[in-house]
Amino acid sequence: MYQRNTDDQSPTGRQRSGDGSNDSNGGSPRNNGRQLLKLSLLLVGIVLISWSFIQFFSPGSSVNEQSVGEVPYSVFYKQVQAGNVKDATFQGQDITGDFKNALSLTDANGTPVLTKQYHLTQLPYGDPNLIALLNTYHVQYQAKPAAGQNLLLNIVLTFLPLIVVIGVIFFFARRATKTQQDISSFGKSKARVELGDRPGTTFTDVAGVDEAKYDLVEVVEFLKTPEKFQRLGGKIPRGVLLVGPPGTGKTLLARAVAGEARVPFFSMSGSAFVEVLVGVGASRVRDLFDQAKKASPSIIFIDEIDAVGRQRGFSINSNDEREQTLNQLLVEMDGFDTRQSVVVIAATNRPDGLDKALLRPGRFDRQVTVERPDWNGRLAILKIHTRNVPLATNVDLITIARATPGMVGADIANLVNEAALLAARRNLIAVTQNCFDAALDRILIGAERPLVLSEADLNVIAYHESGHALTGMLQDYVDPVTKVTIVPRGQALGVTQYTPIDDRYNYSKEYLEAQLVTALGGRAAEQVAIGHITTGAENDLQRVTAIARQMVTRWGMSERLGTISFSEREDPFAGTVLSSGSREYSEQTANIIDEEVNRIVKRAYDRAISLLTSHRETLNGIARSLRLHETLDARQLRAILEDTSAVPTGPL
Ligand code: ADP
Ligand code: ZN
Ligand code: MG
Repeated sequence: MYQRNTDDQSPTGRQRSGDGSNDSNGGSPRNNGRQLLKLSLLLVGIVLISWSFIQFFSPGSSVNEQSVGEVPYSVFYKQVQAGNVKDATFQGQDITGDFKNALSLTDANGTPVLTKQYHLTQLPYGDPNLIALLNTYHVQYQAKPAAGQNLLLNIVLTFLPLIVVIGVIFFFARRATKTQQDISSFGKSKARVELGDRPGTTFTDVAGVDEAKYDLVEVVEFLKTPEKFQRLGGKIPRGVLLVGPPGTGKTLLARAVAGEARVPFFSMSGSAFVEVLVGVGASRVRDLFDQAKKASPSIIFIDEIDAVGRQRGFSINSNDEREQTLNQLLVEMDGFDTRQSVVVIAATNRPDGLDKALLRPGRFDRQVTVERPDWNGRLAILKIHTRNVPLATNVDLITIARATPGMVGADIANLVNEAALLAARRNLIAVTQNCFDAALDRILIGAERPLVLSEADLNVIAYHESGHALTGMLQDYVDPVTKVTIVPRGQALGVTQYTPIDDRYNYSKEYLEAQLVTALGGRAAEQVAIGHITTGAENDLQRVTAIARQMVTRWGMSERLGTISFSEREDPFAGTVLSSGSREYSEQTANIIDEEVNRIVKRAYDRAISLLTSHRETLNGIARSLRLHETLDARQLRAILEDTSAVPTGPL
């Protein structure tokens, strides 16, 4: 295979924000609101009590002190006139100060006390004669800001943080209840909007994915005449998983199945299940299945199922909400009875991380792969999307299909749309070839550039894959080549497929050596035909090294080292390496192992180079044909071999 340089690999795990709630004890939203209210009331209580304690014990409020005598206004007047008042401090309504000689007064309990300090309360509107009197008897007096104002300020200052805290708590409490209301209504309305529409889409609207269509015909048949299937006790398709890159038409296919079978289509996106508060995802699933069952026969479509169906307990911050939703989904899929003809179709572009439980029999046990289209497929998709577009006579759809390798259905729909917009802007009555060319240029420069490869890249990939295919066909002891393609799949920009005749349980040395030659055939073809090598062989080289290493260390296939196993022993039960790091052979032996691995790989590479050099014409023929058709099957390959009269040769 020819591998894309993977430095810009997309991250495998998308991090979602707003995954459920951050409430770890997982209570219902209503409980949360109530608890919040209780908590805030408790807080208010605590703060009030502690505040009054502080007030009670604080030394600042001298009024309450035992040593201060409370004097009546009249007594105070007399003492001033008697010359016994040393000083006076005015503070709001209060007057405090010292007597010169202690005075015998009665305190609040009526017991007589001897006090030197006094306190009295002024007359409500002040006493105009008092100051004059104090002046006359030379009493020092001063004024302080009113204690009352001070107290108010104190209270405000004490309570300010509290007020803020309470405010925040109430804000959140109210918001929580509000979101909760929002969500319960949101869940419902969203479900209603997307549920049970009857698509007019049919298989004629989908092109370039014939294999997937072929697989889905059976589902359509079942939905059309469920009785027929049930009567014969046949296995009813329950869950179908559509796997393929974005934009290849998975959603379109699911709708087409519903359209073909004329059944209602219930759809929901996996991410919509997860991005809500606790408990809602599961109830949405229930809702969805209930409604679909009522409308049986029907189709449930779950887009982006990887959002819900990731392996459980995989990440550290495991998302309860997602697990609940996934469990509910499993429960619902197991809960169908035989009378209900509901087919669940799910779509994903990342099938590898899916929870195994989803793929068990009775659930999504059928996988349908939706591949990127080859140029024939792209031509068919172009035809579909230009059905209602007036095309100028100079438009050549074949040329366009050929110029867009790597593009998927959605890209092509976009291209046609852009071209039509350009034509409209230019006030043309039909879309011309020039509009298509300009639109393609624009898309290729644009930010969301689809995977379209340059001429030079395609040439390298074509020769690389031709090298794999040709070395595979020229040798005995190898699995037959069944298909070569330069249509990208996943990380691979090109793939050569081999199909073993039987399941193999052991491998001969010759088989392994031939494997090495074919694996290196890609790199060798780059060398032979183009003259320089590329990064595309990364994966091939990993495979080659692994095989060669095992030939030497595990299977005793090196003459120099003899029939000895140097491999690390594995725990026969757990399958893990027992003594990692502690090798049972010397540094010198390790060097010899490396040399032997190198020698075996080198020999295979030389063999690949010589095979390809002596069949250069055939190599060119395959590469050219691959550029033309993008995909070649075994029959086409054999025809090229016969045309160039290449003959298979024996082992090396
Ligand atoms: P996916 O679900 O695989 O991401 P969609 O089904 O949403 O892709 O495709 C988006 C749009 O692209 C479709 O509505 C359709 O217009 C166009 N499209 C994609 N694939 C095809 C196809 N195979 N044939 C025709 N149109 C396609
Ligand atoms: Zn390769
Ligand atoms: Mg989709």
